[in-house]
Amino acid sequence: MRSPSACAGPANEFSTAVTGPKRRDDLGDLEGYHSPQVDVAVRLNTNESPYPPPPEFFEAWTAEVSGAAAHRYPDRAARALRGALGEFLGVPARRVFCANGSNEVLQTLLLTYGGPGRTALVFEPSYVLHAHIAHITGTGVVTGERRSDFTLDPELAVRLLEEHEPDVVFLTTPNNPTGMVEPRETVEALLELISRRAKPGLLVVDEAYAEFSPWTAIDLVADGVPLVVVRTYSKVWSMAAFRLGFCVAPEPLVEELEMVVLPYHLSVPTQVAGTVALQFTGDMDARVTSIKTERDRVGAALADLDGVEAFPSGANFILFRSDDGQATWEGLLEAGVLVRNFARWPRLDNCLRVTIGRPEENDAFLAALKEVLS
Ligand code: PMP
Repeated sequence: MRSPSACAGPANEFSTAVTGPKRRDDLGDLEGYHSPQVDVAVRLNTNESPYPPPPEFFEAWTAEVSGAAAHRYPDRAARALRGALGEFLGVPARRVFCANGSNEVLQTLLLTYGGPGRTALVFEPSYVLHAHIAHITGTGVVTGERRSDFTLDPELAVRLLEEHEPDVVFLTTPNNPTGMVEPRETVEALLELISRRAKPGLLVVDEAYAEFSPWTAIDLVADGVPLVVVRTYSKVWSMAAFRLGFCVAPEPLVEELEMVVLPYHLSVPTQVAGTVALQFTGDMDARVTSIKTERDRVGAALADLDGVEAFPSGANFILFRSDDGQATWEGLLEAGVLVRNFARWPRLDNCLRVTIGRPEENDAFLAALKEVLS
């Protein structure tokens, strides 16, 4: 065995030879995930909940985790968690698949139903990880463009579906980063189209923010229906640090996802956290109510500001545009307020996205924005 110091300096025996393998050609000009984690007073850039879970949650969680058999692997089927989630959502546990954040759910879906020779349809601008994970799983990406006001043209969606017959179709509602809620009729129309066509396909409805919006597609999920609805604990459950997400899907599909995902991928602390959190639905509801109230207050304040165009939101964030988005973002940062910067992104010129925080954080954001724009 080589000592650690043998690896440290430029003089070690491999230093000139090792340049590392070339990454896969099909990864091309892939870029990583860009959302800087800057340490400022007011962080409103990643759509987390501004409130931690209640202290009773941590008491119950630590009590259960400290009694767990840590020398054994976790329950691969996450039965307790899926049972509790099924009960909470009013769906059978066999239709629930859990993973480390909804990003891992999305990745498992694409590993299972995407891949080389297959395609995924996305409607941009939307959640970047759909196209990103498609790319890293070797899935081809077909891009549908939203209208300039970020709404989805259902006729265009139907046309793209008929023309490309994608294997997987992503629809995010409320959409990130625009905040827009897709009408139920659009989801039903796409589902109907995929169900009718000869080539099998799958509609993935990403509902990371559904708890803040007026409707959910979960009740459309049934065995034999090519629909998956993806959810997360990262937002309303105040558990972004735990990395837990899930989807509701037809049972045969859940079985296939379980075959593809790594065994024992979901740790005991994570499974327990997800189960215990469901004992605190009252706290969750209260957080949703107060965040929605604040969202409407911030939305109204943005609408009153000269030089700002705010887009309607059914989520816990608001997308807005100013004349010079980059300068606005920098000004806010200087004032100690971090929002998400899309100013130089394609389709999102001069747009920034603010996560709804605590009332005092939202006040700080609004005051800083007024100052920056004046
Ligand atoms: N889907 C959407 C639409 C999101 O905005 C996010 C988080 N930004 C995710 C999925 C992933 O969430 P997580 O992996 O934390 O569950």
